[in-house]
Amino acid sequence: MATSTPPDVVVEAEDEDDILGTARKQLERAAAHVDVDPAILERLRYPARVHRVSIPLERDDGRVEVITGYRAQHDNVRGPFKGGLRYHPDVTESECVGLAMWMTWKCAVMDLPFGGAKGGVVVDPKSLSEAETERLTRRLAQEFRTIVGPDHDIPAPDMGTGGQEMAWFMDAYSMQVGESSPGVVTGKPPVVGGSQGREEAPGRSVAIITRELLDYYERPLEDTTIAVQGFGSVGANAARALEEWGATIVAVSDVNGGIYDEDGLDVAAIPTHQEQPEAVARQAETTISNDDLLTLDVDVLIPAAISNVITATNAPDVRADFVVEGANGPTTAAAESILDDRSIPVIPDVLANAGGVTVSYFEWLQDRNRRRWSLERVRNELESEMTTAWSAVAREYAAGSALTWRDAAYVVALARLAAAHEARGLWP
Ligand code: GLU
Repeated sequence: MATSTPPDVVVEAEDEDDILGTARKQLERAAAHVDVDPAILERLRYPARVHRVSIPLERDDGRVEVITGYRAQHDNVRGPFKGGLRYHPDVTESECVGLAMWMTWKCAVMDLPFGGAKGGVVVDPKSLSEAETERLTRRLAQEFRTIVGPDHDIPAPDMGTGGQEMAWFMDAYSMQVGESSPGVVTGKPPVVGGSQGREEAPGRSVAIITRELLDYYERPLEDTTIAVQGFGSVGANAARALEEWGATIVAVSDVNGGIYDEDGLDVAAIPTHQEQPEAVARQAETTISNDDLLTLDVDVLIPAAISNVITATNAPDVRADFVVEGANGPTTAAAESILDDRSIPVIPDVLANAGGVTVSYFEWLQDRNRRRWSLERVRNELESEMTTAWSAVAREYAAGSALTWRDAAYVVALARLAAAHEARGLWP
């Protein structure tokens, strides 16, 4: 084989703990456990395309600021590119590529007919008024008009974006193409073609996977203590469902810090970050820092806030028996190998929080069929998709020696991706 020159679209990881660095290391590790053509693995190391746009934003005071946006499209062999769109001041091109790779694995683990993408806008959403956010989102939809579409690439909410941004994006895109096109984005409010149960879905899937995990290790949910970092839609919905199913949630936190009660919190009474931003620490007298929450002596730790919170520095101090990743990429590769040496299983994001993209798929189906599903149907179908994916990953985990749970999920995903690449072939 000729020596390859890495394509221009290759974005180098900025440092070894950044998201792309972590994503590539995870792929290399898992690749050792699958029998996949090396040429296919090589293709999967790179994004198919990365789009970079400059968005002129008129601020409310009349000034114009130019803001950078990215859309990384990693792989679409199994279906249209799919993945969130985040607004965050620290977004980078390399981060979007790493996150897009994770979306490819996530859709493949769930066996959804989608590939992987991720977009990001380098902006602090808290610094924007509602009118500015709307102008930014509509202009972004215009800039991305030729690269997104219901059969091409379908954005969704991610950090710093939600249903309202998706509604604006859908409206701007629909006006551009001259027809109502609800399937261009998912995570919309139900009144404009969003699905019931989409908002709760990533947290609900974290709860379902935690329940399956405990069952696998024969640990009763009723005797389980859980700490949840992050009380946004993922953390709060995971904590609420697990509490409802009998677990004891002893700690939750948001960006300002957390609250802890060894006898259990009344999670249902704590407002989520959406309901009352940054209010968690005001709900009880005993507060703890976000760092301390990660090293509490609990059965299950659910990091559901941001990336890279469990690192080589604090992994030796983690006292949970299990980690279930609610956020995307909360555990660095170095931290994961420390946890593995300490026999602390880490259930990966690409499985645990995949309920979000799974209900996005349900939403896309509803939009295409012009037919609404009830909340009950969404929950039942999510339950069935999650337990099916859990069983596929658990089978690999049980069959392979020295596999982590992440390796097992990657093996499932890579086998499906490789089969699709092989069937379609390389053209021309
Ligand atoms: N942003 C979510 C994720 O990281 C959802 C993506 C989607 O629904 O397309 O999984």
